[in-house]
Amino acid sequence: MENEKQVILSVRDMVKYFPIKGGLLGRTVGHVKAVDKVSFDLYEGETLGLVGESGCGKSTLGRSILEIIEPTSGTVQYRGKDVLHLKGKEKKEIKQKMQFIFQDPAASLNPRRTLEQILLEPFIIHKMLTPEERRKRVAELLEIVGLSSYYIHRYPHELSGGQKQRIGIARAIALNPDVIICDEPVSALDVSIQAQVINLLEDLQKELHLSYLFVAHDLSVVQHISDRVAVMYLGKIVEISDCDNIYSRAKHPYTISLLSAIPIADPEVEKERIILEGDVPSPANPPKGCRFHTRCFKCMDICKSEEPELIEQEPGHFIACHLYPKGEN
Ligand code: SF4
Repeated sequence: MENEKQVILSVRDMVKYFPIKGGLLGRTVGHVKAVDKVSFDLYEGETLGLVGESGCGKSTLGRSILEIIEPTSGTVQYRGKDVLHLKGKEKKEIKQKMQFIFQDPAASLNPRRTLEQILLEPFIIHKMLTPEERRKRVAELLEIVGLSSYYIHRYPHELSGGQKQRIGIARAIALNPDVIICDEPVSALDVSIQAQVINLLEDLQKELHLSYLFVAHDLSVVQHISDRVAVMYLGKIVEISDCDNIYSRAKHPYTISLLSAIPIADPEVEKERIILEGDVPSPANPPKGCRFHTRCFKCMDICKSEEPELIEQEPGHFIACHLYPKGEN
């Protein structure tokens, strides 16, 4: 993938299968193929939006990259270093540089700890700074995310949803990371609060030169915040390109149908809406060939037997679809 920017995170052939247990002995009788050979690069300072319907594997992909859940196979390189196979001090150092913001701020904060205790934790775990320096840094973090020091001895239940997410963000930036995986960071918030949190993430990105993998199902939010967008369907990336390109010139039938569902504020503008037929197939038994073929309005015979590769059709525009075979666009 060519780009002037430096690749900061390179994910190759990431796989996450969950075993399905069955029978009296609880044997593995199959696998839910949540993420199936996903590859992409994240560039320094960019936001890569990752979209798709619920259950397409986008959150599982984010969690597997940071080993919040153990990936089945694949590689993750941070600035050229193979993160998944590192051990000890070197791994700990690289892990500081890659952080995660959880979807549900309420569930991700320990209800028995004050905000100060929550924000001190990363420094204690990584044995960084003196106790005095840690307290100073915690006060600084609260200020950075727009919360008054008044809250420092409060508990998470005393905060609003937006304030809790600000603490989630403060915790994520505490150790000066380069990469943050944001897992639906605003979807649990009221619409009025979403914009504030998005603005905060954008400001922090500029000030701290962060790279985001931004997982979301809200296509308008993704359009607002992303430089590039990757579209996932049933455990696979089916299209990646610049944000403008995806939103104005999407090529993959799944991307086209997803985008056709975005409402337009102008009642004068008519938009053709593509309604997808049928349900999303089970990731435990994905369709042969193109995984989207059971719902695709452009399905051809080849789609039912051959899986399309993700091919670069134009610089930076990758599509996995038999409508766009290699070198023909
Ligand atoms: Fe549709 Fe075939 Fe393209 Fe799959 S490969 S998206 S089924 S046209």
